[in-house]
Amino acid sequence: MHQKKKISLVIPVYNEQEMIVDNLKTIIRVVDSTDCDLEVIAVDDGSKDSSLTRLKDYQQEEARLKIVAFTRNFGKEAAIQAGLEAASGDACVVMDSDLQHPPELIPEMIAMWRQGIYVVEGVKVDRGEESIKSRVFANGFYYLFFKATGLSLKNHSDFKLLDKKVVDTYLSLPERERFFRGLVHWISYPSASLPFNVAERVGGQSSWGQLKLMKYAINNITSFSSMPLKLIGLIGAITLLIGFFVGAISIVQKIAGHSVDGFTTVNLLIILMGGAILFSLGILGHYLSRIYNEIKSRPSYVIKKISDSDEIN
Ligand code: UDP
Ligand code: MG
Repeated sequence: MHQKKKISLVIPVYNEQEMIVDNLKTIIRVVDSTDCDLEVIAVDDGSKDSSLTRLKDYQQEEARLKIVAFTRNFGKEAAIQAGLEAASGDACVVMDSDLQHPPELIPEMIAMWRQGIYVVEGVKVDRGEESIKSRVFANGFYYLFFKATGLSLKNHSDFKLLDKKVVDTYLSLPERERFFRGLVHWISYPSASLPFNVAERVGGQSSWGQLKLMKYAINNITSFSSMPLKLIGLIGAITLLIGFFVGAISIVQKIAGHSVDGFTTVNLLIILMGGAILFSLGILGHYLSRIYNEIKSRPSYVIKKISDSDEIN
């Protein structure tokens, strides 16, 4: 006979007014079919629509719903962190609010966890109705991330079950700008993966534009690897080698009396060098801004109100 365990669902919510309550009901119904106690932590990440009001209304009939409301949009990573901080279960399941992470998998995740697996990761088999552009982008990112860090995250998602121990370790890490997927992998407790097909989004729309994704990708790579910094050294070394080579040719030609027409060469060199130097400065600047952000030690989010079953204004 199992001892009754408590599962905390951590669900970030941003502008999901259309389906949030129905989706929560679906998710809760699935977890209620297991023999676990349940708490649901919905983190309203500064939604501009009426998501928070809908959540508050739903809380009247669902006492196990806890709402954490941010003062503004701090991003999904911050929402996940706040949800984990508010959770009190023996295990936490982090999942999206749009049903793209199938709740039917949760009982299986719980069963695996009960067998002693600390982290059960939902891994995407089929990336759903995604455009070729975002597919190429995602694969390119995972390839670069793997090259830079040695951690393979291909098709990983934020849909995960974490044992309380893993949650505590995750929360004890001092860094502020976090990459949930990468950090859980980095913590490396015994884990197993559970494949799933990405469903169509139920209601609303994805809030990730190409630019936001690009920034996210760059931030994640630089938060895990200093490889781009070392790349600057490599760019420098290669440029130096080319410089020696071109320099030697120029001197030989000068001595032989037929030096090349200089204007194009000089133009090209200035553009190339200028580009390489600015690019390198950009990389340095990016790391500098990350250090700046970490050193300021501002919290990753600000909570407007937190509630169990009491009223949020
Ligand atoms: N989300 C959030 N803050 C944000 C953007 C998204 O909390 O700034 C939530 C959103 O409500 C959803 C999950 O993160 O529950 C995934 O977002 P979305 O479906 O837009 O991303 P996609 O599925 O396209 O990766
Ligand atoms: Mg989604």
